[in-house]
Amino acid sequence: MRRRGPLLMILAVASGKGGTGKTTVAVGLALALSETRPVQLLDADVEAPNAHLFLDVTWTGERRVVTWRPRIDPEACDLCGLCVEACEFGALARAGEKILVFDELCHGCGVCRRVCPRDAITEIEVPLGKVQVGEADGFPFARGVLDVGEATATPVVHALKREIDPDRLAILDCPPGTGCPTIASLRGADAAILVTEPTPFGLHDLKAAVSVARAVGVPAGVVVNRDGIGDDGVLRWCEEEGIPVLARIPFDREIAALYAEGRNPARESATFREAVLAALAGLEREVLA
Ligand code: SF4
Ligand code: SF4
Repeated sequence: MRRRGPLLMILAVASGKGGTGKTTVAVGLALALSETRPVQLLDADVEAPNAHLFLDVTWTGERRVVTWRPRIDPEACDLCGLCVEACEFGALARAGEKILVFDELCHGCGVCRRVCPRDAITEIEVPLGKVQVGEADGFPFARGVLDVGEATATPVVHALKREIDPDRLAILDCPPGTGCPTIASLRGADAAILVTEPTPFGLHDLKAAVSVARAVGVPAGVVVNRDGIGDDGVLRWCEEEGIPVLARIPFDREIAALYAEGRNPARESATFREAVLAALAGLEREVLA
């Protein structure tokens, strides 16, 4: 589902760490754009989805997300060790006369079953989470939710991305950080907005986020949130690296108050609204040109 011509189809909103305002920007963009073009918002922060808190959501459907885990028949297994060698996630180990399976490390790839020469491995279905779909403020909204205690978030992200409507601009609120769920969210996006703060911590995490975007080949620009609270390190680094700074959202009492009350600033703050729209325009102009 790649970009057709100059059109932006899938926009990822990401950050190297939580708490930068990533979700606020993603939701704000959806709200601001929905008046002028078809949009869709997907909350891919499956371990802690919270975009719905800023929206008036009506859920219309729900799908379970499952994965597969290997189970080994000790009668058939001759302990050859091929499955242990083949598992690149370290989810299998030989312990004496047994092959152990560490479910929390397993990615359900099925490689072990395929390499087993004795047909000693079967797979069982394991629930992982769910994808919920609905309507929010006049546009389609979907979110992935990882079950409590589950560690394998990537299949939930993939299931969520199957809800992308190719006739709309899909805004993907990515998980924070640089792990597998973030990579799964970013992969296939046409462009990314990386939200950061103008502080040394923000710069450190921005560098990590830029590395991930580059690794998956997604062009990116930066939105500096709470501009004015820190230093100019982020701006200087972006200039050195040739990364466009698309917008700087000022540290503003009105925006902070709206956020604290659980209201997205795009609804009531012209400053915020103009900033997120400028970010998108800048992305389309500078990154996708
Ligand atoms: S399914 Fe894949 S990740 Fe899981 S144990 Fe087998 S090889 Fe390893
Ligand atoms: S590949 Fe099959 S036979 Fe060999 S150790 Fe693994 S489960 Fe046993």
